Amino acid sequence: MPNIHIMLRINSDAKVVVLTGAGISAESGIKTFRASDGLWEEHPIEDVATPYAWKKNQQLVWNFYQQRRKQLLEVQPNPAHESLVNIENKLIDNFLLITQNVDDLHSRAGSKNIIHMHGELRLLRCEECLGIFDMMEDTHLTDDFVACPECDNERLRPHIVWFHEMPLQLQEINQAVEECDFFITIGTSGHVTPAAGLIYLAKSSGATCIGVNLEHPLNYDEYDHFYQGKAGEILPNLVENWFSNS
Ligand code: NAD
Repeated sequence: MPNIHIMLRINSDAKVVVLTGAGISAESGIKTFRASDGLWEEHPIEDVATPYAWKKNQQLVWNFYQQRRKQLLEVQPNPAHESLVNIENKLIDNFLLITQNVDDLHSRAGSKNIIHMHGELRLLRCEECLGIFDMMEDTHLTDDFVACPECDNERLRPHIVWFHEMPLQLQEINQAVEECDFFITIGTSGHVTPAAGLIYLAKSSGATCIGVNLEHPLNYDEYDHFYQGKAGEILPNLVENWFSNS
């Protein structure tokens, strides 16, 4: 069972890996996934977030992601995103942020060393030439498909890791988690693998595991320390306390 009373301290020379999920962006106004019974913005995930869905109904999938992409223009990072920038500023190269989120709020808050393991809404990818393009102009955000700027393909796809696809940069992720002293998860339910399994790797490698979430995640018992609440409200103070000696 996690410890909820003992004060935790993190030294300025510690290696820290943070894994974030949809919950950290909830207070910025982006809906989580579990909040709506496995529906994502009213859609069953198998209709919009699988390679099969893309084959079956490209227009539906495209429109769904265009809505998510347009929403990026309306939302702002919140204090939880900013707290992670503060950690990175203290630890510099000893800090890695792994996010399951496909929004761009971490980068916009100022985080630099980030792995987007499930892809990025800002980016579109060509399945023909495999080019990846940052496309956020107004003309790229309509219900019309966007053509590849480098080959004949008329329909780029979202650069998103759909269910049944392989997350990105898994080797780097595993290595960083194996080598870290502190593994901190924020706003993730522990339902989506392989991200949910990283805590087992961290534990078996000797890291202290810390969770911050609105509710108990599925893998709650694996945490050494757990803090329950809204990340935007509690993370700024937690970070200040964790680093108060360093
Ligand atoms: P999830 O939706 O399964 O779980 C979110 C967790 O965050 C829940 O346990 C919830 O209790 C918690 N939470 C809600 N509000 C919170 C808050 N203010 N502070 C702290 N915790 C809060 O999310 P997941 O584990 O990231 O898995 C969902 C998948 O869907 C991911 O792969 C992700 O790529 C995708 N997704 C991404 C976004 C985004 O990019 N913002 C949004 C929805 C879904």
